[in-house]
Amino acid sequence: MVHPVFDNLPTTIFERMSGLARQYGAINLGQGFPDDQGPLPVREAAARALIEGSNQYPPMRGLPELRAAVAGHYARTQDLALDPESEIVVTSGATEALAAAFTSLISPGDEVVLFQPLYDAYLPLVRRAGGVPRLVKLSPPHWRFDRAMLEAAFSDRTRMVVLNSPLNPAGVVAPDEDLALLAEVCVRHDVVAVCDEVWEAVVFDGRRHRPLMSFPGMRQRTVKIGSAGKLFGMTGWKVGFLCAAPPLARALAAAHQFLTFTTPPNLQAGVAWGLDNHRAWFDDMPANLQRSRDRLTAGLRDAGYVVLESQGTYFLNVDLAASGIALDDVTFCERCVTEHGVAAIPVSAFFAEDPVTTVVRLCFAKADATLDEAVRRLAAAKAAL
Ligand code: PMP
Ligand code: GLN
Repeated sequence: MVHPVFDNLPTTIFERMSGLARQYGAINLGQGFPDDQGPLPVREAAARALIEGSNQYPPMRGLPELRAAVAGHYARTQDLALDPESEIVVTSGATEALAAAFTSLISPGDEVVLFQPLYDAYLPLVRRAGGVPRLVKLSPPHWRFDRAMLEAAFSDRTRMVVLNSPLNPAGVVAPDEDLALLAEVCVRHDVVAVCDEVWEAVVFDGRRHRPLMSFPGMRQRTVKIGSAGKLFGMTGWKVGFLCAAPPLARALAAAHQFLTFTTPPNLQAGVAWGLDNHRAWFDDMPANLQRSRDRLTAGLRDAGYVVLESQGTYFLNVDLAASGIALDDVTFCERCVTEHGVAAIPVSAFFAEDPVTTVVRLCFAKADATLDEAVRRLAAAKAAL
């Protein structure tokens, strides 16, 4: 009755931990979403579009003004030259963009290289498309790949690689030299790269996001995926973007038209307005998050936790073993939420095999008072566990 990929597939760890946080009245540093409601002018632009604009089907590839705004944003921030007409498709979140990419570009038996830890949507979608996953394991504290790891995973049957940088849950940004190495291997094996860059705007310490698409040989073979929900810190706004050369974009649009066909026009209009007019946000937002990262890091270190470096995303990670806590990540997170009032995410949930079991992810996109209270509770947990 049920496709084997979805038979007994558990509910995502994010939904599960948010449920436990509600049940136990815990501070939710699990699922990644900001406390803040998002930039008011952008919400106002969407509200105006809802009242005054059209609420009928927008064009299948997305509102022209949004596609132009996405091209403008990526030209300004990442030096990319994308044609709004033929190279950008608006989707209902990055999740739909991933589904469209895997559905339209993978044929049964194609090998797909993915890096662990991996975002939970990838494997079921790749498998449902008939792809055969080849997993490359990244390890803390740096979570980097090297030539030998790539050579072991790529073969004549490889058709696609999936890269997430900045990397959720690790919070690291792939260095330029690693991107250059991956580009070289993709070109040599004639592979398409699907780049989940939803965290591209959330990078710290003066970093600037470099898309794999901009590396030699990659422009025609890369699908770049973005998310307005992450760009503007409004995760419920499921507005995503697929960016690719015209032949790839045509295939992606063909899949998109039968997944959702379109995305609510008023949210698209809000995002377009924001990208064009609310540009200071892209300096202010990461600067504020960096302060929150530093606040949570300092509090946790004072409490005796070993905190791994966070270079981007809403997340930092704690190394339990190095912190002297002899529990695995799942046990720690369960006891933390039920006994100590803080929800976190066990990083082993991002592994399909041979998991890292001693690292826990915490979301710092929260108000100072929330972070301070979470630190107080985590300090108590550290003393008790
Ligand atoms: N990819 C990654 C790596 C993510 O972290 C997320 C959500 N946090 C998504 C995709 C999904 O993005 P969206 O909400 O736009 O579907
Ligand atoms: N991407 C979010 C996170 O990593 C969760 C998204 C979801 O709940 N599906 O926390």
